[in-house]
Amino acid sequence: MKLTRPVVILLAETQVDPNGVRQLLQELEVSEEGAKRFLDAPPNAESLIELAGRLCYESFEIGLNPNVSKIRGTNREYLENILLKGDGSILEHGVTNWAFLNVSRVLTHELVRHRVGVAISQESLRYVRLKEIKMWLPDELSEEQKEAMIHAARRSEEAYLRLAETIPWAKMNMDAKKRMTSALRRILPDGLATNIIWSANHRTLRWVIEMRTDPSAEVEIRLLFDQVGQVCKRTWPNLYQDFERTPLPDGTGSWKATLRSKV
Ligand SMILES: Cc1cc2nc3c(=O)[nH]c(=O)nc-3n(C[C@H](O)[C@H](O)[C@H](O)COP(=O)(O)OP(=O)(O)OC[C@H]3O[C@@H](n4cnc5c(N)ncnc54)[C@H](O)[C@@H]3O)c2cc1C
Repeated sequence: MKLTRPVVILLAETQVDPNGVRQLLQELEVSEEGAKRFLDAPPNAESLIELAGRLCYESFEIGLNPNVSKIRGTNREYLENILLKGDGSILEHGVTNWAFLNVSRVLTHELVRHRVGVAISQESLRYVRLKEIKMWLPDELSEEQKEAMIHAARRSEEAYLRLAETIPWAKMNMDAKKRMTSALRRILPDGLATNIIWSANHRTLRWVIEMRTDPSAEVEIRLLFDQVGQVCKRTWPNLYQDFERTPLPDGTGSWKATLRSKV
């Protein structure tokens, strides 16, 4: 039995290919001067989302579409307007990929309720036979309560390992091992630490951060998505320019989009 803490890792994110951007702007007959700002921009999701949005109206520069007589001059201004108007669909072009480590099955069960714009790969307890139980305990428990929780987890771990010893693993093929590993996991606690890769586009991410850092959300998922919110604010400052964090008494924070509550 080992105590752990949830870990948030931003594994990957959508990047644009500068050669692709150059070709796109050439094909669309954007002038060299008009193209410069887009070619100099960081090759990240914020740039991609702006390109996707501007393609809709041919608003890369004044005059490209004769109907367009003024344009917003910076990525920040452009995205601010998108967030204000609620044109959330272009946010779906940028995808983020996260590793959430040492999170409980309580958390993953809540996380997978968000169905739209996500991809999920979770550690399989049919394949993975545990050597020990890892678990995070909420700070709101007293030391005495934590001790009682650890004791209960140890008993579950002992029972699991004792049962595992009764099974002739070495003589079994993978399918048989999988069936038995799956049968044994039923006595493991919900708080068991596990690992999950979770991918979400920025539209989804903005929604889930708000939902899961609400003061009424469960503390572990709030702790996790508070960290995700902080990474987003740092990594994509224009896309999350309206995200504001309110510190909560338990040390976590609640994030709200101020330009629009749901984009
Ligand atoms: C604080 C908190 C407490 C909760 N408590 C409970 C609980 O006690 N019991 C429980 O069962 N669940 C609970 N939930 C989970 C909640 O009910 C949702 O299942 C979960 O938050 C997923 O959110 P979502 O429905 O917005 O789905 P997402 O997949 O995140 O979808 C995002 C948005 O897309 C749209 N959308 C998605 N699917 C469809 C569809 N099929 N048709 C039309 N539009 C769609 C909706 O506008 C939706 O809001 C809780 C969630 C939170 C944040």
